[in-house]
Amino acid sequence: MALRPPDLVVVGAGAAGLWCAARAAELGRRVLLLEKTTRVGTKVLASGGTHCNLTTTLGPAEAARLFGPRGERFLKHALRVLPPKAVRERFHALGVPTVEAPWEKIFPASGRARDVRDALHAWALAGGVRIRHEQAVRRLRRDGSGWALDIEGGESILAPEVVLALGGKSYAKTGTTGDAYPWLAELGLRMVRPVPALVPLVSRAGWVQDLAGIALEGAVVRLVAPDGRVAAERARPALFTHLGVSGPGPMDLSEPFARAEDERRACDVALCLDVCAGETQEELRERMLAAAARTGAPLLAKALELEVPRRVLEAAFAQAGVAADMRANTLAKPARHALAQALKALRIPIDGTRGFDFAEVTAGGLDLAEVDPGTCRVRGLPGLLVVGELLDLQGPIGGLNFQAAFATAEVAAASVKQT
Ligand SMILES: Cc1cc2nc3c(=O)[nH]c(=O)nc-3n(C[C@H](O)[C@H](O)[C@H](O)COP(=O)(O)OP(=O)(O)OC[C@H]3O[C@@H](n4cnc5c(N)ncnc54)[C@H](O)[C@@H]3O)c2cc1C
Repeated sequence: MALRPPDLVVVGAGAAGLWCAARAAELGRRVLLLEKTTRVGTKVLASGGTHCNLTTTLGPAEAARLFGPRGERFLKHALRVLPPKAVRERFHALGVPTVEAPWEKIFPASGRARDVRDALHAWALAGGVRIRHEQAVRRLRRDGSGWALDIEGGESILAPEVVLALGGKSYAKTGTTGDAYPWLAELGLRMVRPVPALVPLVSRAGWVQDLAGIALEGAVVRLVAPDGRVAAERARPALFTHLGVSGPGPMDLSEPFARAEDERRACDVALCLDVCAGETQEELRERMLAAAARTGAPLLAKALELEVPRRVLEAAFAQAGVAADMRANTLAKPARHALAQALKALRIPIDGTRGFDFAEVTAGGLDLAEVDPGTCRVRGLPGLLVVGELLDLQGPIGGLNFQAAFATAEVAAASVKQT
């Protein structure tokens, strides 16, 4: 007996595709889910160091703000429809209780990403979603009032409605190779050039690489424009590596360096580490004066009694042009200012990024202006919906990207039901 044709074909069984397929099926649609690789939810399995930081403790408005002004405007509705709290409730109902962790993160209580992936998979199957593996869609075409999907191997699948959930193009070995970008461009849609984001940064500076292995847990990382204006900041740990800098702080702020690298130009902002985030410049200068006033003229670096790794302190001294073995009572006012400045804004020269192979997400994708945020339907192309990372949406580390994938999937699934 031939199977009845689907109401909806979802392409890509990642976080967004699985959620969208499962939810649309729950809402009564016949759903076919096409996945290129041999398994579903590969990035979910790899996420959060295999623990899967599946959402955030933040409320919907705060979470949306972390996607920048355009992302915030687009996601506002979706995050109201499916706030982080509702994602937790859904996973709880699917048998995956969750726990809170530092930095506003939410993980499965088991600590196993596999439980999250399996729950999404089981939810889809329970609703009757047909999942076909090793089905690489090679082309998307308009076909009458619907869409045709050409599958590798020659088969074409027709569908009145198609949800594209192919993700970005980072970690290509997980199946995400940016296949949908040319399809969307050919349909005349505006695309924002994809670049790696949430990616470790490369610095060829010897002094940076020499600090490899040192982590700054309490750092504030800033992007500083040439006129001193702070373009962005993130209070998250930073880590020096043998290739440059990594950790959530620098990775969260990596996109401008990726854009500059992509366009083969110098970046218009500098990466600065505030290694004394608990104190103002003024307080640091007072600390120096107090150190100088102490008897015995101790070595300045020691007398400052800062909880900063010694070698990072030495790097700040070098940047300020102050000798590391200077005596506390010989520090002149200009040097005091320079040192306080270097401690609050240790400038890390950046030469590029580790690229798509090491990027947790792709920045860029389908321009948000092309999509109705209330339905995730592409404007002017009936029956075509786009969700998840394929959209020009990227949030910082902390469960925000899964949250955006789930929320856009939820909105799309509800919209399909209404048609
Ligand atoms: C190492 C790593 C760790 C991460 N950790 C976290 C974390 O802890 N928290 C968080 O919020 N985010 C994390 N992310 C980001 C998160 O994984 C993504 O933002 C999220 O998976 C995007 O969901 P998506 O469904 O849009 O795309 P994906 O999950 O990437 O899914 C896309 C799917 O489409 C399939 N596909 C691609 N092309 C085709 C085709 N032509 N035909 C058929 N199928 C196709 C792919 O095989 C894939 O299964 C991490 C990412 C990485 C790489």
